[in-house]
Amino acid sequence: MPIYEYRCQECGKDQSVLFLSQREAQSRPRCKHCGMRRLKRLLSRFAHHQTEAARLQDFNTGSARDESFYKDSRNVGLWAKKRAKEMGVDLGSQFEETVEKARSGKILDEL
Ligand SMILES: [Zn+2]
Repeated sequence: MPIYEYRCQECGKDQSVLFLSQREAQSRPRCKHCGMRRLKRLLSRFAHHQTEAARLQDFNTGSARDESFYKDSRNVGLWAKKRAKEMGVDLGSQFEETVEKARSGKILDEL
């Protein structure tokens, strides 16, 4: 199932859209925020091709995160993970499991 990043030309909000098939991905999705079909696919951001290690490295826990950050399900748990790493805390495998559940569950909620 492909997930693409879009920016709305109408309201300017970024969002990731999950498609159930390649064929569906050819259609123009509607903006989740304003409902207009003015989404432009972002080709410059290959965020989902990045490894988690790379995402963790780029990710700055000190900077402010806007609403769209939390709408991206791939970022769920990232903050906690990075903070734990910085503090030298081992969150253990159960935490990983919880994050995975949160991630997959959030994607389904957005459909
Ligand atoms: Zn919009």
